[in-house]
Amino acid sequence: MSYVKEVYDKLAVKYANEKEFLQAAREVLESIKPAVEANEEAYRRSGVLERLVEPDRIISFRVPWIDDQGKVRVNTGWRVQFNDAIGPYKGGLRFHPSVNQSILKFLGFEQIFKNSLTGLPIGGGKGGSDFDPHGKSDREVMAFCQSFMTELFKYVGADEDVPAGDIGVGAREVGYLYGQYKRITGLYEGVLTGKGLSYGGSLARTQATGYGLVYITDEMLKQAGKSLAGKTVLVSGSGNVATYACEKAQQLGARVVTMSDSSGYIYDPNGIDLDVVKQIKQVRRGRISEYADQVAGSVYHAGERPWGEKCDIALPCATQNEVNGADAEKLVAGGCWCVAEGANMPSTPEAIETYQKNGFLFMPAKAANAGGVAVSALEMSQNSLRLSWTFEEVDARLKDIMKNIYRKTSEAARKYGHEGDFVVGSNIAGFEKVAEAMLAQGNV
Ligand code: NDP
Repeated sequence: MSYVKEVYDKLAVKYANEKEFLQAAREVLESIKPAVEANEEAYRRSGVLERLVEPDRIISFRVPWIDDQGKVRVNTGWRVQFNDAIGPYKGGLRFHPSVNQSILKFLGFEQIFKNSLTGLPIGGGKGGSDFDPHGKSDREVMAFCQSFMTELFKYVGADEDVPAGDIGVGAREVGYLYGQYKRITGLYEGVLTGKGLSYGGSLARTQATGYGLVYITDEMLKQAGKSLAGKTVLVSGSGNVATYACEKAQQLGARVVTMSDSSGYIYDPNGIDLDVVKQIKQVRRGRISEYADQVAGSVYHAGERPWGEKCDIALPCATQNEVNGADAEKLVAGGCWCVAEGANMPSTPEAIETYQKNGFLFMPAKAANAGGVAVSALEMSQNSLRLSWTFEEVDARLKDIMKNIYRKTSEAARKYGHEGDFVVGSNIAGFEKVAEAMLAQGNV
């Protein structure tokens, strides 16, 4: 039996109830097979794969906080410190009722390879809580964040583990978390990224994931002799990643016709008016349905996802498994020929199979959304230097990083006989650096 299969089969028995983690692990392990086989003896002897699929540690804790009625509420908090072979653990915090250990393990595992692909010295981790910030007052969110950090601070630090935002954790939450860390430790250090500009944040971090997604999509199109200009684009989500993916795609001449939230999607044939979306989502924290009340000619589809609309390019930017096999068939029927993933693992394995069968240009999340963590690493550098770079400087570095990720990904795919398969390419390119570091550092 192949080494890869042996390791996966054991994992599937041991963690049978962690379906998201197994989905991510299976994709990675299957696609790195050619690289593992090229070096199998050394990898087997030092248990590289067995060590890679088991997190260094998982910290889980109670988060008690008091709501506006004076009642104590209790959530669970986690930090999954997955692998620090190439740098301190780095990865976001997610606050969403669906959060559990399996989801955080999948995200932490993906993060190892994504972070490696950026070329920057950051390991993989992820954390969060089943707390739902929707509908909570600012005071309640602050109370929760302070309680969460009161436990988390023991395990994080600028050279140890540097969390950031993710679903449900934006500038407001990062601010409260940072304040509490500083209050407890007395340290003014870059322990979190995605901070506000007035206290150590980096310009362009807010935009980085969405902009980076569009930069790498643009590069992939260019290499295929195409461009974004004039193309019709479907975006899902209306949070951080979706908003700035839409903004950059529009700047490069594309027509973005959809955005969504967990209640439904809006279709605007004239192209999304992003100022309206920002006002609804960032200022009022409202629902995307309000867009249709404000913009003539647009339509709101309650309870649906946007994948049935005609398009050239789809950018899923909401959450995991939001494009299933049937959705992918709808994309094909609607003329779509390119998908780049802003969210983490938004396409199910069946959806990816459909893209590949239909010859799509397909850039998986690990490569496509790495711009966020890359600029987070640049924020860490600026904090260490006690300097702030200009927006243009950070944006130029981001563009360069995304181009490099495209290059490494396509070269690795070609080297192992899978030209144009960016799933194989990104997994192998990410894996090789981590594996080399793990071998060099011995059995730890
Ligand atoms: P936000 O919380 O800012 O936005 C999330 C968006 O997705 C909202 O519109 C939300 O709608 C929607 N959404 C969330 N859960 C679901 C669901 N179960 N079904 C349908 N829609 C849903 O998060 P981000 O934009 O930061 O993150 C989006 C994705 O991008 C995630 O997969 C995240 O891991 C990934 N990512 C984020 C990075 C970052 O820098 N922020 C970096 C790399 C990846 P609603 O408001 O109704 O919940």
